[in-house]
Amino acid sequence: MKIDLSKKTAIVSGSTVGIGFAIAKRLAECGSVVVVNGRKQDSVDKAVAALKKAVPGATVRGVAADLSTAAGTAVLRKAEPTADILINNMGIFGPHDFFEIPDEEWSRFFDVNVLSGVRLSREYLPSMVSKGWGRVVFISSESALNIPVEMIHYGVTKTANLAVSRGLAKRVAGTGVTVNAVLPGPTLSEGVEAMLKDSAAKAGQSIEEAGTAFVREHRSSSLLQRMATPEEVANLVVYVCSPLASATTGAALRVDGGVVDTLA
Ligand code: NAD
Repeated sequence: MKIDLSKKTAIVSGSTVGIGFAIAKRLAECGSVVVVNGRKQDSVDKAVAALKKAVPGATVRGVAADLSTAAGTAVLRKAEPTADILINNMGIFGPHDFFEIPDEEWSRFFDVNVLSGVRLSREYLPSMVSKGWGRVVFISSESALNIPVEMIHYGVTKTANLAVSRGLAKRVAGTGVTVNAVLPGPTLSEGVEAMLKDSAAKAGQSIEEAGTAFVREHRSSSLLQRMATPEEVANLVVYVCSPLASATTGAALRVDGGVVDTLA
């Protein structure tokens, strides 16, 4: 089985680091033209350079834009008018007790984690439908199903990703375009490393050890019993983007290390 994405163009939101960067790298390895995105020009330039170095000969472009806003989405659309593959990856998270979360923070989480993917899908899906081929993937989370008590607002946005994804898959049914959600479990991305840095330093642990301790304590149903790597998540995402995955649409696919204790 070979994944060939040559002649495809893929946009990955929030891909300067973390899971998004790993997805961009795997897509480039499979021959896709890749567009990386982050908010700052220097981190976008750095990611583009790193990808070109990691995948010699790859065509990689970058667009700096805050995709939690309509203006940022317009900047991206102007620079990259069409795409064959859209990965709605960018997302923010972090513990915050329900009783301390003000309305503005709920709105910020909704803008970054939900509305960004809604806008991008509205912009890029129609041309996929006219071409009769396309792939849209929403990076949700196991937190969509296991709402984390320490960040209920995050869980709500990740559940919303599943609803939008399933609804859009129905909306474009029969067109050759698939829309799916991928649900990672705890994954040692740069964002999670930043979250664990202090506890690792306090306990005198490496970041991997702190990740494993986090999983044991806060995600005790994990069968993997460690954090996944961003590459392990990217592998599933890239399969879903491939022509091989043509019969998979409207699905919520888990790469959660078995955290969600359910049979289906
Ligand atoms: P990360 O913090 O390591 O990286 C996030 C990326 O998004 C960065 O490139 C950042 O610059 C970018 N970004 C943030 N806000 C942006 C904005 N407004 N406009 C453009 N870019 C923006 O995150 P990660 O851990 O790789 O998470 C990626 C996705 O995976 C998120 O949707 C997250 O909810 C989901 N996820 C992560 C985990 C995990 O444990 N890491 C688990 C389940 C789901």
